[in-house]
Amino acid sequence: MKPLRQFTVRATLPDSLSALTTLANNLRWSWDTPTQRLFESMDPAAWASSGNDPIRMLGEISGSRLAELAADDNFRARLDACAADLDDYLSRDQWLQHEQAAGMPEIPGIAYFSMEFGISEVLPIYSGGLGILAGDHLKSASELGLPLVGVGLLYRNGYFHQSLNADGWQVERYPTADPQGLPLTQLTEPSGAPVTVTVSMPDHRTLRATVWIAQVGRIPLLLLDSNLPENDTELRTVTDRLYGGDQDHRIKQEILLGVGGVRAVRRFTALTGAAEPTVFHMNEGHGGFLGIERIRELVARPTNPLTFAEAVTAVRSGTVFTTHTPVPAGIDRFPDDLVRYYLGDDAGRSTLFPGLGVADVVDLGREQTPGVFNMAHLGLRLAQRSNGVSQLHGAVSREMFADLWPGFEPDEVPIGSVTNGVHGRTWISPAWREAAAAAGADVAPDSDSAQMLVSLKNVSDDHLWATRNMLRAELVSLVRDRVRRSGLERGFSEAELSWTEEVFDPDILTIGFARRAATYKRLTLMLRDPDRLKKLLLDPERPIQLVVAGKAHPADNGGKSLIQQMVRFADDPQLRTRMVFLPDYDISMARYLYHGCDVWLNNPLRPMEACGTSGMKSAINGGLNLSILDGWWDEMADGDDGWAIPTADGVADENRRDDLEAAALYRLLEESVVPGFYDRTAGDPPGRWMEMVRHTLSVLGPKILATRMVRDYTEAMYVPASQSYQTIRADDYAAARTLADYTGRVRRAWPSVRIAEVDSTGLPDVPVMSSKLTLTAHVRLGDLAPSDVRVQAVLGRVEDDTLSPVSTADMVALTDPGEADGAIEGETLFRAVIELPTAGRLGYTVRVLPHNDLLASDADLGLVRLPEGMQ
Ligand SMILES: *Cc1c(COP(=O)(O)O)cnc(C)c1O
Repeated sequence: MKPLRQFTVRATLPDSLSALTTLANNLRWSWDTPTQRLFESMDPAAWASSGNDPIRMLGEISGSRLAELAADDNFRARLDACAADLDDYLSRDQWLQHEQAAGMPEIPGIAYFSMEFGISEVLPIYSGGLGILAGDHLKSASELGLPLVGVGLLYRNGYFHQSLNADGWQVERYPTADPQGLPLTQLTEPSGAPVTVTVSMPDHRTLRATVWIAQVGRIPLLLLDSNLPENDTELRTVTDRLYGGDQDHRIKQEILLGVGGVRAVRRFTALTGAAEPTVFHMNEGHGGFLGIERIRELVARPTNPLTFAEAVTAVRSGTVFTTHTPVPAGIDRFPDDLVRYYLGDDAGRSTLFPGLGVADVVDLGREQTPGVFNMAHLGLRLAQRSNGVSQLHGAVSREMFADLWPGFEPDEVPIGSVTNGVHGRTWISPAWREAAAAAGADVAPDSDSAQMLVSLKNVSDDHLWATRNMLRAELVSLVRDRVRRSGLERGFSEAELSWTEEVFDPDILTIGFARRAATYKRLTLMLRDPDRLKKLLLDPERPIQLVVAGKAHPADNGGKSLIQQMVRFADDPQLRTRMVFLPDYDISMARYLYHGCDVWLNNPLRPMEACGTSGMKSAINGGLNLSILDGWWDEMADGDDGWAIPTADGVADENRRDDLEAAALYRLLEESVVPGFYDRTAGDPPGRWMEMVRHTLSVLGPKILATRMVRDYTEAMYVPASQSYQTIRADDYAAARTLADYTGRVRRAWPSVRIAEVDSTGLPDVPVMSSKLTLTAHVRLGDLAPSDVRVQAVLGRVEDDTLSPVSTADMVALTDPGEADGAIEGETLFRAVIELPTAGRLGYTVRVLPHNDLLASDADLGLVRLPEGMQ
């Protein structure tokens, strides 16, 4: 019989063990080894069968065992120590408090919005890289003491579990999450009733959602849940699954995340006394509607409401937008009509955002293609600060979004970069902490992961090698178990699967490749020359073994067929003990792969990988990266931390490019990777390999931690955004009104701003480097004052009649009538004396930019005026 509904009843714990509930309800246990060991010791079998899920385990553990533990002084002492450590962790000063004591400006609060969060396998509300990054962001924000609150959705059916059928075709199964069985508490009103946020929907309907809180160390994560009886069936299912529906489903999810999310934050701060966020961070464009909701709040203020333009100005100042994809198809784009439908239209006014004009809102998401509402463009327009997720991706994004800043050079487009990182305590095997301790390092449970990694430079080759061997052996056990289980699911009998006991060998060079089966990641590149790969796998002296994993999006048959090709190749009886495809790649499996693989392979089509983080997780466990120079690897590969696969960047024919890059990959494996790993004189660990492992752990490791990333965000984005917002908000948004007034004046005046003429004088007949050039520009400013603009001389090299700027110099307005002699009525003269910066063929031009101290940069408004005909 199938149950109609399921629910979870929590165990009642003896009073003396009640701290277990506190420990289980704060997800900090998921990266705190002592707490995990405490849970495991309660009942190792139940711990394993629960999938290392404390709440499930506490529900399944027998009453008699609980009584036994309650009477066990030793256990109670360990429990008390873990509970005291958690208390201390939640209250002591961290990095931010120390920085603030040393003069860093205060940040009252930060709200971080993401469509997915990958914190632990027990909370299945993530699909892959983006979510895990968001989870690592929260964990690191907790460790650094940031006043951050996360905002996301609680999916009833989390991301799917993947299995294979007999043909190797992906089959999806959706787990059902029951909030009672998850580490969540409900946000409640003082009356005890659950907080409900409402969002208006077309046709006078209302979408309601309750708010669950997952506690991630110090960081509360608010999760909206629309599965309520008060909602009609269609609205109940808004939060049914992640990335599961059509565009109509998706836009409702994004409206709930953005609009409902802001309302949940407001209720949360009001009820808990937490400070109102001064910074809102959109992790990818999915949360973009949060900006419009905040505009609505300001326009709808009962006293002294702001105009739309003033509200946009205010909201932008405190908003940060991070773009995560250089693949245009990866960006959410909705038809205008769909957006208009959800905005609701009452004589031109939105019913979803009362007080705002429909056309104004639609305009915030417009792109070049008419009729399309682009969530990334919305993010860029509503955030005064934005970034890509590696240096290369920052550069690619500046090109990709250059259309929003016409007239600017791509490298002037105000999109920066903050390179992603990964959370040390989540992803580094505890074995490395033990190795560091053995080498005399401070590895107290809360000591910094970066320091721990640095201290690994003192570990001997033998100890490094022994640790790597141990981690590889653990992976081999997992592989055998998973391959056998997958075989059973595919319909083979136990007897037919006896070979799985011989899958993999703990002493063979182990290469990992795990990622979503997105086309640009080229899952099957390694199969390009099957015979060459077979030779590597089956070499009698120096073989390799390959573990592959990854899910295809349920609607992506192309991706599924790549997986099938992989599975069929690995099904070959000759190869199946050396090459495996493990279904159901998720956090719990990933950990073993990162710990155990000697080499982490990544071969995306450059520059489509925005950052990539799996290689980082391998590296902080001593895995060496073998990767195309893309994403993070492009800036971090230094020759001692792995190998760069040469790219055939200029080759337009994709097939040929794949052939060339696959050949380069095989060659590296044959000539460098394999010989390096098997270079054992007299049974010693491979010397150069150990050097590379040590370098990877202790030099590369600290640079790719998420604590470094969150510190970068704090210094480069959060502090400046918070400062801008506080300035804008002061005196009842006086600066917002001033800046909006300025912006309006500039936009109106801009069509009549003109550079009428530029004179140059002063150059000798034969200019040499450092000769001085005097430029005078005659500028018509219309209604603007000289102080409203910056006039700049741009100098650069000239090739094929284009200027590659190498330097700029601000020009000074000549206001003294004597000096300004020669000016015509309506013109202002600007002058600069410039030293020639380099030799060679040089050129210059002059441009006018809006300038105001309240703008984040002179490119902020996307306005620039060049001499006639040069725009
Ligand atoms: C890290 C991670 C990812 C993302 O890896 P990429 O290198 O960015 O593709 C995806 N899934 C899981 C389970 C991960 O741990």
